Amino acid sequence: QAKEKGRNGYQIFDAEHDRQSRFRQEGLGRLAQALQQGELCLFYQPKVNMRDGSVVGAEALMRWQHPDKGLLTPAHFLDDAEGSPLDIALGEWVLRSALAQMRFWQAQGMTLPVSVNISAYHLQQDNFAERLAALLAEYPELPAGMLEIEVLESTALKDITRVGALMTTCRELGVEFSLDDFGTGYSSLLYLKRLPAGKLKIDQSFIRDMHEDGDDLAIVQGIIGLSEAFSRSVVAEGVESIEHGSLLLHIGCDHAQGFGIARPMPADALLGWAQQWQGAAAWQLASKRRWT
Ligand code: C2E
Ligand code: MG
Ligand code: MG
Ligand code: MG
Repeated sequence: QAKEKGRNGYQIFDAEHDRQSRFRQEGLGRLAQALQQGELCLFYQPKVNMRDGSVVGAEALMRWQHPDKGLLTPAHFLDDAEGSPLDIALGEWVLRSALAQMRFWQAQGMTLPVSVNISAYHLQQDNFAERLAALLAEYPELPAGMLEIEVLESTALKDITRVGALMTTCRELGVEFSLDDFGTGYSSLLYLKRLPAGKLKIDQSFIRDMHEDGDDLAIVQGIIGLSEAFSRSVVAEGVESIEHGSLLLHIGCDHAQGFGIARPMPADALLGWAQQWQGAAAWQLASKRRWT
């Protein structure tokens, strides 16, 4: 299209393109600086067992404590980094921070598995598994199975042979995988067979209205059925209400995560939260009232 407009069209297009890429470079530079200066941190959001309410793990979620803009979530800064060298630096920082946090919690008497989100680009680096092995070796006091990696289902589907092989290698190191935002990537039964990820995380878009929307409920039930058929465990994301919890319990969901249980919180708040957490009582009661 720009071509048809001749030289001028090109110039306009290039100027806009230049401006955008300069913007992106500036943003990336500032983010790299934030990493260097310790402005990034991880928040943790608990995951609980639906049946007995026990805390089964936590997801590490990146935050930027920006000096001017306040606390930023990844939607405000992470997209630009995807596919750049900074993507990998950030991912390695997240892995290292999560391992250090688990070691700290363990020393305080709380053994809690942590999952981290890793980008497609980082995961597909040739040396990913070697780097991960080297990192794990720095934390010999942590038992195998404590670290888990969340990969977007849509990412895993892009190169299923390669991602499947990588998952197998990492599982030999004691690292488990979950397929994040599951249900949004058009996964088929066949794909799942080839991806050795132990957990499926049902995308929160299906949970939100499932108690009113029959199609959403059917999808959630389908994913739970799929997880049973393939002996994977299943986590519902975005569990905001007792209503969500009671319905999920009723249809056999294993684990849940969401604002209704706890919001993502600073690392030093989690131990206190776990001590006062009341367990599954609320939605168990509601489930009994409603479904029996
Ligand atoms: P995700 O991995 O699917 O994480 C769940 C997101 O949903 C988090 O948003 C969490 O705060 C939010 N959430 C949890 N429970 C509820 C709920 O009940 N209701 C609603 N409305 N939202 C809920 P957050 O922290 O803003 O992260 C957004 C996304 O950014 C994550 O989605 C993940 O894809 C990405 N991300 C977060 N941390 C990292 C990281 O360290 N590295 C990479 N590569 N990506 C990250
Ligand atoms: Mg996630
Ligand atoms: Mg998700
Ligand atoms: Mg998501």
